[in-house]
Amino acid sequence: MPVTRAILTLNSGSSSLKLGLFTETLETLALAHVDRIGRREAAMVIRDAAGARLPLPAAAPDAFATNAAALRTALATFEAQFDGLDVIAVGHRIVHGGTDHAAPERITEPLMADLARLAPFAPLHQPHNLAGVRAALEAFPGTPQIACYDTAFHRGHPFVSDTFALPRRYYEKGVRRYGFHGLSYDYITSELARSEPALHAGRVAVAHLGSGASMCAIAQGRSVASTMGFSALEGLPMGTRPGELDPGILLYMLDEEGLTSHEIATLLYKESGLLGMSGLSNDMRVLEASDAPRAQEAIDYFCFRIRRQVGAMAAAMGGLDGVVFCGGIGENSGRVRAQACEGLEFLGLEIDAAANAANARDIGSGRVRVLVLPTNEEIVIARGASAVLDL
Ligand code: ADP
Repeated sequence: MPVTRAILTLNSGSSSLKLGLFTETLETLALAHVDRIGRREAAMVIRDAAGARLPLPAAAPDAFATNAAALRTALATFEAQFDGLDVIAVGHRIVHGGTDHAAPERITEPLMADLARLAPFAPLHQPHNLAGVRAALEAFPGTPQIACYDTAFHRGHPFVSDTFALPRRYYEKGVRRYGFHGLSYDYITSELARSEPALHAGRVAVAHLGSGASMCAIAQGRSVASTMGFSALEGLPMGTRPGELDPGILLYMLDEEGLTSHEIATLLYKESGLLGMSGLSNDMRVLEASDAPRAQEAIDYFCFRIRRQVGAMAAAMGGLDGVVFCGGIGENSGRVRAQACEGLEFLGLEIDAAANAANARDIGSGRVRVLVLPTNEEIVIARGASAVLDL
């Protein structure tokens, strides 16, 4: 019987699960995405390397009741598709590696305990990532599991990009500007190294615009600044998170409105951003299609904050040679890309309207290159697993 040796990647969120299946030589076999886990509308899509949808087996009613169930269902689908599937390693996206974990590494029980201690730094992500590890340990006992950190790409930041102006003890306690979306920035950097070596050697502002959104200043392939900070709330506005906020607003909510910290967390993580501003949706497609003034204002604010940060990233790097857009919005919304770059001609940034409307790869017409590059966090996790295991 033929055997398919494969590396599995897992990105386990609060209500979604993304899986990737790769050969030992890092060719993509399949990608799966389960959404709305735990709800009746839960759904899974599995695609092969060419993007064609693979058939789903008849799913039991509780197939997507929990992340662990969704993992079993997705694995059953992979097993039906690939003869003698032999998972030789599982790579995990772990949002927070703290100050100490700056490269992919094999997961042990002491490491799990260490990562669990970082959960208060990323309360809405880290526990779900670690639950994904537990589920995979159960599904593949004895198979090496590798942690790949979203914070790792940013660990080399200079002190001024890493700190807040708080009493020094907070810095020592780990209250720092970590930066996230590192797996995506790592991928974009590798793509630039492969296909645009001159740009890779220069100064690039990368905008990862998905449900979560951030920007990163990457000079000579290294992160020097990020809009994300201590938590995944900082920086750009996002689908349901506000981004940069005057901390005085939190004091106002606590002292004047009497909100509890739990209520504030819900407001900041789930009710703000594009959703809160528009009162309509966190989905950019819905906002773009709407003629409601608040939907348009939400998009205007989103683009304005990106534009300000392009300037900030250029300042952090002492100039700008390229801008890269990625993530669901960055890869698909010509409106957002054009509006975010508006008025930045003084930096050498100009958009070719026709190329932008066609979602072309190269959409700049000025001195600064402007690229649209589909990101691929899964392959970065697979590469990390492969490197740790020396495959
Ligand atoms: P996640 O961070 O959950 O992986 P994605 O990177 O898939 O999210 O990005 C999700 C966002 O991308 C949503 O706001 C969605 O509306 C937006 N998006 C996807 N396709 C388009 C499109 N064709 N036009 C505008 N926005 C889009």
